[in-house]
Amino acid sequence: MKTYLICLLLALAIISAIVISEYIKQGPSLGGENGSVETLNTTAATNVSEGTPNENITTNVSTEMPNETGTTNVSDETSNITITTNVSGGTLNVNGTTNVSTGTSNGTGTTNISGGTSDVTVTTISTPDNSCINQSTGIERMDIFDSHVHVPSSISASQMISEMDAAGVSMANLYTDASRSLAAIAQYPGRFITFADTPDSPEPSTWLTQGQAFVTSAEAQLKTGKYYGIGEANLRYWGGNGSAPTLKINVPADNSIWLQLVDLSAKYHVPISFHFVPDDPVANVAFERMMNYNKDAIILWCHLAFDGDPLNRTALNDYLLRYPNLYFDTAGFQNMQNPIPENNSNWARLANQSNDQGQGQGGMNNTQGQCPCQGQGGMNNTQGPDQGGQQQGQGGMNNTQGQCPCQGQGGMNNTQGPDQGGQQQGQDQGQNGVNNQSGQLNEEWRQFFETWNARILFATDAGGGTNSLERWLNYVNNTVEGATPDAVGHWRHLFGNLEYNTARNILNSNAKVLLLKEQKLPYNYSVTFDRNCYSISISSNSSVSGFRFDQDTKDIRFTVADSTGVNGSANITLPTALGGNFTASVDGQSVQIKKVSNSTFTIINIEYTGGIKTVVINVA
Ligand SMILES: [Zn+2]
Repeated sequence: MKTYLICLLLALAIISAIVISEYIKQGPSLGGENGSVETLNTTAATNVSEGTPNENITTNVSTEMPNETGTTNVSDETSNITITTNVSGGTLNVNGTTNVSTGTSNGTGTTNISGGTSDVTVTTISTPDNSCINQSTGIERMDIFDSHVHVPSSISASQMISEMDAAGVSMANLYTDASRSLAAIAQYPGRFITFADTPDSPEPSTWLTQGQAFVTSAEAQLKTGKYYGIGEANLRYWGGNGSAPTLKINVPADNSIWLQLVDLSAKYHVPISFHFVPDDPVANVAFERMMNYNKDAIILWCHLAFDGDPLNRTALNDYLLRYPNLYFDTAGFQNMQNPIPENNSNWARLANQSNDQGQGQGGMNNTQGQCPCQGQGGMNNTQGPDQGGQQQGQGGMNNTQGQCPCQGQGGMNNTQGPDQGGQQQGQDQGQNGVNNQSGQLNEEWRQFFETWNARILFATDAGGGTNSLERWLNYVNNTVEGATPDAVGHWRHLFGNLEYNTARNILNSNAKVLLLKEQKLPYNYSVTFDRNCYSISISSNSSVSGFRFDQDTKDIRFTVADSTGVNGSANITLPTALGGNFTASVDGQSVQIKKVSNSTFTIINIEYTGGIKTVVINVA
C-alpha cells in the first residue's frame, strides 16, 4: 500500500508538473506573472520507466490554470525518489490516469500548492501484484538420473535409450555386465555411466572367489577414470519371488576382499554399492564393522536397504544419523500394478495405499489444508485411506478451503472434489481411484524423503531381477506382463508430493553430485512480501527441508539433517529488501551468524552440529 501511495504521489506530481509546464508555455488569459496564452487543454502523456534511486525532482511553478488530461505510466521505479512540486498561484484542474506496474519504493513526495485551486482526479487502472503465486512445481517434467539399472543381454542400448527418452530420464548408471555397459556408453555418450562390476557369475560372488586378483583388477579399472563406482555387489540377498524367497547369497560384509574394495572407494572417491538386507543379527554385526571400517568410503546402499523385506523407516533414519558417508538408492520397487498395489508390498507402504482406497478421505485431511504452498494439502489427500466413507461429505466441504494462495500445487492433488459435496461421493471415489494408480506419498515417508533429501538417489533397477527384460519394457508403458507398467511414472507421480528442491535432489541432483562429482546445488525458494516475489537460497551440505517464510514477520524456518557428530553449516542468501538485521537459532538456541551484504543480497552463515535440527532466522 505504501508503494502505491508513493507511485500515486509520483504520478500526481508528474502530472502536475506536465500540466504546469504546458500551461506556462500557454500563458493563460487569466494572467499571472507569465503572461501570454498559447494553447489550452492539452493532453500530455508521460512515461517513466526504470527510474533510478535517490533522485530528487523539484518543479517550481508559479501561476497556472490548465484543464488537462494526463496519462502517466510508471513502471519499475526504484526507491528513494524525492519529488517536490511547489506551486504558487493558479488553478489546477487535472484529470490524470495512472497506470502503475511493478512499483517498489521508499519514495517521499511533497506537493505544495499555495494560492491556487487544485482539483485533481487520478484514476488508477491496474493494481499489480507480483507475488509468487501459481508457480508450478515442474516435477512432472523434471529430469531424472536413474542411478541403478541393469543391462540384460536381451535388451539393446537403443531400446534403453528410447525407454529413457520416453520417461524423461537423461542418464542411467548401468550395472551387471561390463562389456555391454561399455558398449552402450560408447554408443550413447553422455547417457550412461557404469561402475566397476562385482560379478556374481559364473558363480555367486565371483568377485569374492577371485580374491586379491579381483581387488587388483578393480583398482586398475578405477584408475582409467571410466568407472564411477564399484558394485552392485550382493552381500546378503534373498532370491525368488513372492511367498518362498530363498537366501541366495550371504557374504560377511567384513571379509577382507570387500574391505579392500571399501578402501578403493575412499581412495578413488567413488561410491561402493551393494545389496544387503539387514535381517540377521550375525550378518548385521559384520555389516556394522564394515560401515565403521573406513569413514572416507562412499557407501551406496541399494534398495533402501530392505529390498523385499518390509521397509523400516526407523532403521533407515538410524543408519543415516549414524553414518555420514551413507546414501540409499530406491531401486527394486515393484508391485505398483493397477489398479492398486499388492497389499503389504513396499510400494503400498510408500504410496499409502491399500485395498480400501481412500475415498473422500482426502477432504478430511484437507482440513489441515494449511496452504503453505507446498502442495501438502494435496498430499494429505491420500492419508485418508482409513477414514472411511462417513467423512466424505466433509471432504468436499473442506476442500473448498483449498483456495489458498498456493492453489497451483495443492490443487494438483486437490482435484478430487473441491466442490462436490456429499452427494458427489461416487465421482470422488472414481477420481481418487485414478490417482491411486500410483498413489500419494505416505505422509511419514514424505517426511523421511524430505528430511534426508540429500542422501537418497532415485533408481528403478530396470533390467534387474528375474523379470529383467520386462522391467525395461515397462519402464514407461504397459508393454508386457510380468513387470510394473510405467515404473518411472509411478515414482515421478509419488515424488510429485515432495517439495521442488527435495524432488530435484532425489530425482537427479544427488546422482550428479555423488557419481559425476558435480557441485551440490543450492536450495532455492520463492517468497512473497510487499506484493513482490523474491528468492531465498540456502547452500548447505546438510539435507535442507521444510522451508517456511512468514510474510508478516519475515521469519525464515527450515530443517537441516546431518549425521550425528557432523559439523553442519548453511549459507542463506536473502534479498536486501527483506531487511538488514538478523538473528538465528538452532533448535531454539540462539547461534552466531556471519553476515555479508551488498546492495542486492545479504548472505548469512550459520553453523550447527549434526542431527535433525530446526533453524529459525529472525529478521529484525
Ligand atoms: Zn540391482
